[in-house]
Amino acid sequence: MTSKTLDAFLNENLEDLKGKGLYNVIDPLESPNGPIIKLNGRELINLSSNNYLGLATDTRLKEAATEAIHKYGVGAGAVRTINGTLDIHVKLEEKLAEFKHTEAAIAYQSGFNCNMAAISAVMDKNDAILSDELNHASIIDGCRLSKAKIIRVNHSDMDDLREKAKEAKESGQYNKIMVITDGVFSMDGDIAKLPEIVEIAEEFDLITYVDDAHGSGVLGDGAGTVKHFGLSDKIDFQIGTLSKAIGVVGGYVAGKQQLIDWLKVRSRPFLFSTSLTPADVVASMRAIEILMESTELNEKLWDNANYLKAGLKKLGFDIGESETPITPCIIGDEVKTQEFSKKLNEEGVYAKSIVFPTVPKGTGRVRNMPSAAHTKEMLDQAIAIYEKVGRELGII
Ligand code: PMP
Repeated sequence: MTSKTLDAFLNENLEDLKGKGLYNVIDPLESPNGPIIKLNGRELINLSSNNYLGLATDTRLKEAATEAIHKYGVGAGAVRTINGTLDIHVKLEEKLAEFKHTEAAIAYQSGFNCNMAAISAVMDKNDAILSDELNHASIIDGCRLSKAKIIRVNHSDMDDLREKAKEAKESGQYNKIMVITDGVFSMDGDIAKLPEIVEIAEEFDLITYVDDAHGSGVLGDGAGTVKHFGLSDKIDFQIGTLSKAIGVVGGYVAGKQQLIDWLKVRSRPFLFSTSLTPADVVASMRAIEILMESTELNEKLWDNANYLKAGLKKLGFDIGESETPITPCIIGDEVKTQEFSKKLNEEGVYAKSIVFPTVPKGTGRVRNMPSAAHTKEMLDQAIAIYEKVGRELGII
């Protein structure tokens, strides 16, 4: 017999979530996650994926992955430190270092996993981490796992960061102090103030850690937020994911050779979880080559993003202060936001609503993620649907 306590716990909590309308029902796609998706038998313009450059469905990546499967099989067979390191894992890491302008890199099975791995491999209970209050969940969990003292910093508030860094340093309580931030914040699309962060880090000898999940492939001609600011030799940890602009799955740290050497002997997902599959590795490598060879997709992404932003703004929507392709359409009220997203869906646009607690109360929004794969016609159609639904609901 299975546990009655567990049954009671699940019944109570699931009912509670369902009662509050917070139980997320997931509808599976019946198509690839491209600019047009098929859902419940209907085709929709997709404005909700992180497939920034359209590479998730790119023929060149699919061919590379297929070849890799024929040559190496579908699984790596072991963790990296036993015999799950194939020559292509090493090549991918070399390519990542080249892409990020660092001495070396290490690949993990996901971006989430990478933050769990990297923070706790270096930080411990005698250390402190200054963490932006809007950092991604995987950064928060990685910090918690390390057992370091977590000091929350007001979002992109450099005075607050300086004050807290000074206090932590002068307390003499901590062996190491790290400052950790998203490169691009995923809900508003604003960019971390890296030049100021680096200045403060130099003043107080902080370890710098930038998770550029939403900046890589997007900023700095594709090389990311750190390159965008010309700070490649000033950031200790450059984190990236292979799952967004790169279009595949996986995560990585790029940095100095010694840091990577340490992560290879101390980061637990590297030591205890089976390595990336051959198809993932080779497809990711192909994506990075494409990004390094040409800025064409990057330019297309920005062109589409600017087009969508201008169209929504002209209609009178509040698109916030995004500095990147992430295009929030801020509605405010939570219920209205959800209704707006539902109606967009009925009219043919898939754009997810994001409400409290993911964003502060009263700032509910529909978040749009234009990509290089959208055509102007698709964006025009989406803008027309936004206009119709926006007027219907009295938002514009
Ligand atoms: N870090 C940040 C800043 C992210 O936005 C995400 C993706 N939501 C991740 C890490 C996790 O990356 P992955 O999907 O590769 O696990």
